Amino acid sequence: MKIDDCRERFRTFLADSGFRITNQRLAIFDAAFRIDNHFTAEELLDEARKIDSSVSRATVYRTLPILTGSSLVREIDVGKDFKFYLANPEKGNQQAQVLCEDCDKIFEIDAPFLEWYGSSVSSKFGLKPVSQRLQISAQCTEYRESGACKNHS
Ligand SMILES: [Zn+2]
Repeated sequence: MKIDDCRERFRTFLADSGFRITNQRLAIFDAAFRIDNHFTAEELLDEARKIDSSVSRATVYRTLPILTGSSLVREIDVGKDFKFYLANPEKGNQQAQVLCEDCDKIFEIDAPFLEWYGSSVSSKFGLKPVSQRLQISAQCTEYRESGACKNHS
């Protein structure tokens, strides 16, 4: 999906959900789509400020739940005290993550079996699955070779 189509969907989502369409919200949205990898709220703030210098940290934190609510940005909880995000309208939760346990580098892989697995396990208990996730802790090449990663995020 093209960025323009995504932006249009975001505008529609804002309007339908009763949120005002503000330049700051659109700047944060654009910033999320400019970063092609996983990002934190702080990285999103830096990127959004390049587009609109009036974007504040508070606005970013208030806008992130709106972005994830629109399903155009995915939240990835890796069990830390902060979350990662990914602008990814198409893949939903059919993705598994492999994370370096030292530098937090995240690799995403398609995992179409996840949904099937979630529903077959849930159905044994008569439950309806809502979401499922798979995360694998790993050591990146740099960690394996030198015992530490330079790129701590
Ligand atoms: Zn690493």
